[in-house]
Amino acid sequence: MSRSDFLPFARPDIGEAEITEVVAALRSGWVTSGPRTRAFEARFAAYLAGRGRTPHCVAVNSATAGMHLALEALGIGPGDEVIVPDYTFTATAEVVRYLGATPRLVDVDERTFNIDPVAVAAAITPRTRAIMPVHFAGLACDMSALQRLAERHAVALIEDAAHALPSTWRGQLIGTLPSAATIFSFYANKTITTGEGGMLVTFDEALANRARTMRLHGISHDSFERHRTPSADWYYEVIAPGFKYNMSDIAAALGLQQLARLPALHARRQALAARYADGLAGLPLILPPTAPVGEMQAWHLYPIRLAPEAEINRDDFIAAMAARGIGCSVHFIPLHRHPYWRDYCGVTAADFPIAERLFEQEVTLPLYTAMSDADAARVIAAVRQIVSR
Ligand SMILES: *Cc1c(COP(=O)(O)O)cnc(C)c1O
Repeated sequence: MSRSDFLPFARPDIGEAEITEVVAALRSGWVTSGPRTRAFEARFAAYLAGRGRTPHCVAVNSATAGMHLALEALGIGPGDEVIVPDYTFTATAEVVRYLGATPRLVDVDERTFNIDPVAVAAAITPRTRAIMPVHFAGLACDMSALQRLAERHAVALIEDAAHALPSTWRGQLIGTLPSAATIFSFYANKTITTGEGGMLVTFDEALANRARTMRLHGISHDSFERHRTPSADWYYEVIAPGFKYNMSDIAAALGLQQLARLPALHARRQALAARYADGLAGLPLILPPTAPVGEMQAWHLYPIRLAPEAEINRDDFIAAMAARGIGCSVHFIPLHRHPYWRDYCGVTAADFPIAERLFEQEVTLPLYTAMSDADAARVIAAVRQIVSR
């Protein structure tokens, strides 16, 4: 098989509009945070708001940065605990450690792969300050149950929405729920990309202002604006040891055009997911859960599980797909399996029976808008061949 026959696991969908906008940013003479970053924030806010209330949107250079800023703005620090699903990417938990706080890992729901509200309730202690649900693969978590818990125990909800653009919970877009903050990722393989990037979304003006200050070295824009005159636009004041988390206008140029295409990109992901659901029905597989009728599901990933009757383990399945020229992946290696989290949290596989079982059975098939219908048919044919031998 030649290299060009290989269907990669993921590939960004960058069109001429994105390329033109990036070139315009380059020619404009302004490449760092500037007019395109502000426009991207405004359009992102308008997209989420629809006809409803407009959130504050703070563009950053990764979702990881955005989650760090949200926790920092809430004043989370040493001695505090933050509840994080075991079945996630390390970024969700690492930001808690950046601040010297402790992640409390909890197990997930077997059907949805999402954080289990019952496990969350059991993990809440007087030290708990926040809960960080992850909308796995773009299927919204049970936000009603999590909101009840957060209210009852006076803890914040910080949504890791890296997979959830666009997804809804009870008809409301993720990003517009009454959480303290919601963070989207524009990493290369996410549903829209800026190469690297993220967006912190919140209705809390004070949180947004703190995040804006801390994303750029702790430079206070209040004092900045107060003291700035045309003859002294060099003046600024540092009010905290901030970070370097701002988004560049080159990245925002990509974001502006990707966001404009979001409805079409989402429709394509849905169509590919529907093809997979049809083509893979009746096999010894557990197909990904679908959102209730009328809800949006971002379909960032297409996670399948190999049932025991498939008579092939996950690693051999991925090797068989690779032999047929198809790249697959695994989401996620649960946190408890990584040396750092195992040792820091003092946990073992026995603490997370569901995450452990999901991990052993899970394979993520390629699903991205740059795929053709023929590519999807090829994936389906390969899976059928491998599991029905
Ligand atoms: C991709 C991802 C992140 C990190 O996003 P970055 O923009 O790369 O920082 C965080 N959480 C989850 C669940 C992710 O999949």
